Amino acid sequence: MSDIISRAEWGARRPKGSYTQVASAKGVKVHYLGGALNPAALDDHDRCLKVIRDVQAFHMDGRGWLDFAYSMAVCVHRRVIMGRGPHHLTAANGSGLNTQHYSVLAILGNKGLVEPNDDLLHGVLDAIDYLREEGGAGREIKGHRDGYATDCPGGPLYAWVRAGARRPGSPPPDPDAWPGRLLRYPSGVAGTPLMSGPDVRQWQEQMKTKHGFELDVDGRYGPRSRAVCLAFQRQVDLDDDGIVGRLTWEAAFGIFPAQIYTPLTSPSMTTRSRRALTEREEEPGEWGQ
Ligand SMILES: [Zn+2]
Ligand SMILES: [Zn+2]
Repeated sequence: MSDIISRAEWGARRPKGSYTQVASAKGVKVHYLGGALNPAALDDHDRCLKVIRDVQAFHMDGRGWLDFAYSMAVCVHRRVIMGRGPHHLTAANGSGLNTQHYSVLAILGNKGLVEPNDDLLHGVLDAIDYLREEGGAGREIKGHRDGYATDCPGGPLYAWVRAGARRPGSPPPDPDAWPGRLLRYPSGVAGTPLMSGPDVRQWQEQMKTKHGFELDVDGRYGPRSRAVCLAFQRQVDLDDDGIVGRLTWEAAFGIFPAQIYTPLTSPSMTTRSRRALTEREEEPGEWGQ
């Protein structure tokens, strides 16, 4: 995390009034500057701060707004710049959309400097981390164009958002990783006995094609899915509770984390240690996510 450039450091004007307070938000929307941006910006961070001052002047004098519209801004030098900041309503997302998400402006154009470099992407995520820690921002990361008619945040940056907004250099997510919820029948939710979703379908597909069980791949975890789960758990010597948790999932997909998995043939795999594993399986929070 880079140091945040304070409003005093970039020469911000004072807001024209009081911000509307927000307790938390669903997440953050990513924006770009748009327009022509001179690639010389890459060589001169002072230009970045000049851009921010110009945008603030336009928002306050041209638009008549309270202040610079964005919660925070970032540049191609991985510098995070304080805008309205956490717990203050942004004005960037469009009418009616500002209470739901904070906003982060990437100093990136749609001519000239248009491709985000790694430092800019890290900076966007640094700003989002800050808004999560200090502002109660939730997990969502979206683009300005989500729910609002605009090109913002531009093609390359939006493609990165849509692909999961991953840190440059981080490994792609494992498509076979445990999805993080326990699949069970009955679901435990009144009025909705069947759990459904792509994770159920993925597990059913695996049980049918890789492990040879007869079941419909319909994405609904019902009595037949539970029966298949029980049979599989007995096959691989896991406690048979009919619930697909982390261990049962990972056994189905052949993923065995060295720290927790004891080989099936090991004589040290006592009933007690198996039970301990199963109990942990029912506490998904223990594994973190
Ligand atoms: Zn925007
Ligand atoms: Zn910069």
